[in-house]
Amino acid sequence: MWYKMRDRSLPSSEGHSVLPRPPGTVREWRLADLCTGCGDCVEVCPKAIITLDEERLPVVTALEACGRCGLCADVCTRGAIELTRETRLGLERMQKSDLPEQRAV
Ligand code: SF4
Ligand code: SF4
Repeated sequence: MWYKMRDRSLPSSEGHSVLPRPPGTVREWRLADLCTGCGDCVEVCPKAIITLDEERLPVVTALEACGRCGLCADVCTRGAIELTRETRLGLERMQKSDLPEQRAV
């Protein structure tokens, strides 16, 4: 079906693997319009698992290592990666854990 071929977050029907998008990435048909390929999500990922593909769109090289921290969504000013329920909680946890450090500065 056409959406299986376009949506890289879905497993390929032909058996060869394709890299998934970061959690919360908008659907493929919107991504190319929204994403500028700026690389901010690549820079911010604490696990260093985001890279840009040949179209300069974000892909995750090791989804199992993703901590669902939400930083990639938070940094994307284009709305190409949106916070999900899971990554919103991850971001809140991270911001709370940063508070004592920020107070100490
Ligand atoms: S931060 Fe957003 S606009 Fe920039 S490369 Fe990542 S997804 Fe694309
Ligand atoms: S949610 Fe966090 S760990 Fe996962 S890809 Fe985005 S920035 Fe990296």
